[in-house]
Amino acid sequence: TAASTQDELAAVHSELVRRNPAQPEFHQAAREVLQSLAPVLAARPELAEAALIERLCEPERQVVFRVPWQDDKGRTHVNRGFRVEFNSALGPYKGGLRFHPSVNLSVVKFLGFEQIFKNALTGLGIGGGKGGSDFDPQGRSDAEVMRFCQSFMTELYRHIGEGTDVPAGDIGVGGREIGYLFGQYRRITNRWESGALTGKGIGWGGSAGRTEATGYGNVLFLAEMLRRRGEDLAGRQALVSGSGNVSIYTVEKLHELGALPLTVSDSGGYVVDEKGIDLELLKQIKEVERGRVSDYAERRGRSAVYVPGGSVWEVPADVALPSATQNELDAADATALVRGGVRAVSEGANMPVTPEAVRILQDAGVAYGPGKAANAGGVAVSALEMRQNSGRETWPRERVDNELAAVMRNIHDVCWETAERYGNPGDYVSGANIAGFERVAEAMLAQGLI
Ligand code: GLU
Repeated sequence: TAASTQDELAAVHSELVRRNPAQPEFHQAAREVLQSLAPVLAARPELAEAALIERLCEPERQVVFRVPWQDDKGRTHVNRGFRVEFNSALGPYKGGLRFHPSVNLSVVKFLGFEQIFKNALTGLGIGGGKGGSDFDPQGRSDAEVMRFCQSFMTELYRHIGEGTDVPAGDIGVGGREIGYLFGQYRRITNRWESGALTGKGIGWGGSAGRTEATGYGNVLFLAEMLRRRGEDLAGRQALVSGSGNVSIYTVEKLHELGALPLTVSDSGGYVVDEKGIDLELLKQIKEVERGRVSDYAERRGRSAVYVPGGSVWEVPADVALPSATQNELDAADATALVRGGVRAVSEGANMPVTPEAVRILQDAGVAYGPGKAANAGGVAVSALEMRQNSGRETWPRERVDNELAAVMRNIHDVCWETAERYGNPGDYVSGANIAGFERVAEAMLAQGLI
């Protein structure tokens, strides 16, 4: 079957919904990509042959497992672990692990699906996968997190490896967790296989610049979108949501490029700081104390106001970088942003803007950078970490920064040119989906029916 028209693609999607009931996030991510493909399949019908679209939508392998662990009081808990190995046509499965109570198979599959195209866009030879657990690290001691990570890896280790599947961090999984996971992997396998996980510490196989890469890359992508419109990021007021790793290094890069990051947020509310977010204070509270943004407002003084329960998108600004989680920016938020004069929105998180909100932004002429292009800097530097690991090399920070900047510029330009080539000039959604799809589809076709 060759799905080459909009109707045929819609039929593939209906079948996907039927076969994967109660997975709304996966349905949403798949619909968004399939809706972009009609023009490329009309021009290149061979890319839809041999049920290629159907194969692309079906993970190569899905692992669901039990994760038992003991808390500090000796009580036993049971969580669920996931690893979805979605597509390996371009390289080993690659994608993060998310530890958050909202994690389920639908969330992991949406993230794994996005990762296929994102990783293809980097051009660095990595397939797509994702994993995680519904474990909530919030409020847990280091010892509890360690025992959880050890139990998680006691099952996961048999599925991963430098040439097979290479996990990294995502929400709830940072340097501390990767350390515990790597320690357990090394102990079980009795191998120093540094390329089996990325996001490791500098000094034991990690790459300079990996921690910063997602946030930095997103700001570079945003700057490139503005440059294409003859505008400059310097002097712009910026909204950042979230306050985790992506948000922190988004704030850092915005400062560096002369923009003014006004906000950060967490599940309790947001802080707006008219003098610009104080990076050192934010890092102290989030990275050292593992605290909340309300603590930031308390300690910052007069320039900062904490708004409990509010949405950062109600603050007027020139640019917005949603960097918290999926579907955090809805139609009402998009309308508020447009009313506030927003020029560009660039996704630091995965799928943070709802489909209705994307339409509102694009209809209003706002430059919109989808996450699979804009936030690819993190996984790109993970791929650079893998390269260093396989060559037993340690690159200087400057080399990584230069390669990251080149990758982000290249992703921007490929999306731009692809959108233009297929009749949607300026539409980064269409450009990212088609360009990522073409690379994966060509590899799958060449490699036969697998
Ligand atoms: N979790 C990140 C992402 O969404 C990074 C994945 C990685 O480095 O493998 O792309």
